[in-house]
Amino acid sequence: MVIVMKPGTSQESIQNLSAQLQKDFGVSIGITNGVDCSILGLVGDTTHIDIDKLSMRDDVERVMRVAEPYKKANRKFHPEDTVVDVNGVKIGGGSFTVIAGPCSVESEEQIIGIAEDVKADGATLLRGGAFKPRTSPYSFQGMGTPGLDLLLEAKAATGLPIVTELMSPKYCELFDEKVDLVQIGARNMQNFDLLKECGHMHKPILLKRGLSNTYEEWIMSAEYIMAAGNENVILCERGVRTFETYTRNTLDLSAIPAIKRMSHLPILVDPSHAAGMYWMVEPLAMAAAAVGADGIMVEVHNDPPHAKCDGQQSLTPASFHHLMSKIRPLTELVGKKLG
Ligand code: PEP
Ligand code: MN
Repeated sequence: MVIVMKPGTSQESIQNLSAQLQKDFGVSIGITNGVDCSILGLVGDTTHIDIDKLSMRDDVERVMRVAEPYKKANRKFHPEDTVVDVNGVKIGGGSFTVIAGPCSVESEEQIIGIAEDVKADGATLLRGGAFKPRTSPYSFQGMGTPGLDLLLEAKAATGLPIVTELMSPKYCELFDEKVDLVQIGARNMQNFDLLKECGHMHKPILLKRGLSNTYEEWIMSAEYIMAAGNENVILCERGVRTFETYTRNTLDLSAIPAIKRMSHLPILVDPSHAAGMYWMVEPLAMAAAAVGADGIMVEVHNDPPHAKCDGQQSLTPASFHHLMSKIRPLTELVGKKLG
């Protein structure tokens, strides 16, 4: 961090500020006295320093961060890729993981049938929402806890570990007991109380990008979970809001190489929520594999026209089969192992 002092600030004030920062934050400080102003260069962990407070001082002209505000998620301090183990399925490193399943769990027959179909085509994790974040309170809200039990039945039938969304801290204990990978949805990416609770959980967290959040805000949300004690975080790009209305969201493919440079955490792509249209899912999934994503999460439904949620963007098992036939050689080409 660099602090530029106002011209004319006395040496005494500079020394006082420097001593205070060293005492409060344990940083070491180099002072450069120029003709017009002095500059303080702070070295060490500056994450706890409040830039806004410093900038408010009468004698401070400007404060600039040179290091990122995230530590645990930062690739600089953890150069090798993190591999997250989801009940035996390794996400990150050299793997390409395919998570598939319906937007929401609707019945025993539906979830077990889809689980069997996607497993046969190479998916290694089953998704399905039991608690759904819907824009309208009148839309289907998910089956709730009975939906979780149906996911467990599908897991027992197929062996696929399960991924489902957690919306409230009141279900943390239940999810810790029943769910293999806990999804935090786009709408809750900055629900900081929920993130802190995820930090106390013992299951890995799949953190989707918020509707209009920057890379840094997204990584800071991962940092919340990690700082609270749970370092098993996987990021998921699912499209962001832009001026374009043709697609549901705009898939930000740049996020994948950018996040890989900024962080060591694995990153998946959800082409279904990005596109909002079933016929665009396959090309976007292929693009995700080509830019180095660690996997994809795709919505698959046995009867999309009658799905209770997101049927328009769901693949049928047959189109998922086709997608996998395209993805398989592509993952080989980019040097990743499917599974
Ligand atoms: C979902 O995965 O079903 C979902 C609601 O996703 P998002 O939070 O990305 O909208
Ligand atoms: Mn959905």
